[in-house]
Amino acid sequence: MNKIIGSIVNIKRFEIHDGDGLRTTLFVKGCPLKCRWCHNPESISPRSELGYYAHKCIGCGSCVAACPHGAHTVDQNGHVFHRDRCKACGKCAEVCMADALLFYGKRVTPEEILPRLTADVDFYKNSGGGVTISGGEPLLQSEFCAEVLRLLKEQDINTAVDTCLFASREQLDRVIPYTDTFLVDVKAIDAELHHTLTGQYNTRILENIRYLDALGKDIEVRIPYIPGQNSGEIEKIAEFLATVQHLKGVRVLPYHNLSGTKYASLDMVYPLASENTPIPTKEETEAACDRLRAHGIKVLTK
Ligand code: SF4
Ligand code: SF4
Repeated sequence: MNKIIGSIVNIKRFEIHDGDGLRTTLFVKGCPLKCRWCHNPESISPRSELGYYAHKCIGCGSCVAACPHGAHTVDQNGHVFHRDRCKACGKCAEVCMADALLFYGKRVTPEEILPRLTADVDFYKNSGGGVTISGGEPLLQSEFCAEVLRLLKEQDINTAVDTCLFASREQLDRVIPYTDTFLVDVKAIDAELHHTLTGQYNTRILENIRYLDALGKDIEVRIPYIPGQNSGEIEKIAEFLATVQHLKGVRVLPYHNLSGTKYASLDMVYPLASENTPIPTKEETEAACDRLRAHGIKVLTK
């Protein structure tokens, strides 16, 4: 039988914002959307890649020796990373003690990462937590994620999938039997605006929310709230969500602009960099929450 291989970005322990209780979150690589405000640019491409954080480099030269392709040079002027020579093997990141090099897209089997995902099982039981798969988009790697989730359910561990739901029914059906809660991003209801903001239309996303609801699956919705981008959509989102029967609650996630160094580390351009998008005030965020509450929707704040 062929091994199931996944591409992952990171595994974080003791997370408190990725579902109920204390959780371990597995971040997988690759996303079908390109949200203009994306905070995780290292998760967008499905390909493995190296992030170089120049401000952390101490010029030790360990990466020069580690790279078989001559992608790093260090001289009296300092360290230069030649991205065009990099084959994304990850060897240099293993020897960089300054954390100036981070490798995104390690290829792993579900069995390999299971011990890390189950290490905190006592904390899960005591806090009502468990394991969340996030991204990137987990459903892009639905076979890998379904197997990870199946192995977790074998140990009776609570599971959540954080997804944009831009996925085929086949991809979604693979994970449904092993997923307790779906954490679903809703960014806009207007189809054209959704396309402008994310690069994709939302028909399939809204249909998949209806599908999960009809199956009685628990759904927690997250609304990224970005002034001047999707802030005019709150009323329409509220009207839509008010009709979802198995909605556990909604979180409004106010925009922040702290991802600039991540984009720079990947030689990517932050789409909102030139637009002076303001951080929403507490009052603006609270007003958005109130509009949801006005439709009888439970707003989650913890
Ligand atoms: S190993 Fe890290 S700290 Fe050392 S030169 Fe390379 S990037 Fe800089
Ligand atoms: S990831 Fe591999 S190929 Fe790329 S710079 Fe590091 S060692 Fe060289």
